[in-house]
Amino acid sequence: MDNCIFCRIASGKVQSLKVYENEKTLAFMDIAKDVDGHILVIPKKHCKNILDCDSETLSAVMQTVKAVSNHLTEHCGYDGVNLLNASDESAGQSVSHFHIHIIPRKNDDGIDAWPRFEGAKEDIQTVFEKVKM
Ligand code: AMP
Ligand code: ZN
Repeated sequence: MDNCIFCRIASGKVQSLKVYENEKTLAFMDIAKDVDGHILVIPKKHCKNILDCDSETLSAVMQTVKAVSNHLTEHCGYDGVNLLNASDESAGQSVSHFHIHIIPRKNDDGIDAWPRFEGAKEDIQTVFEKVKM
């Protein structure tokens, strides 16, 4: 997909700082400069998000997420990671090519990577009846 920025990064048409690459996936530095070590993991094959991603591609992405996360904690001085994903514009997705954000964490780094929700509006039992599978 020539109009997709992450497809262009995956094919090398757009430069990126590649942290790790294999046949099916790529991990590269996010350019947001919002938090130290912000990394994105993408499939090289285009899918929009987790809702349309086939299971083989999803599995490849998650294996790379784990490999990068283990590398960060075993070799780069980090203690843990936050994994973030927005699937669909309703969830805040701004780039329409599936990606998992990895935020490396250190004990007491003071980073707030968890949203402060405003409180549930619906009764938990009502929502449960709607979402149970
Ligand atoms: P999201 O809002 O979850 O879709 O995240 C999209 C992310 O892509 C943001 O954190 C952007 O900073 C990042 N991003 C957009 N363009 C590039 C690029 N060319 N290279 C690296 N990261 C990018
Ligand atoms: Zn794409």
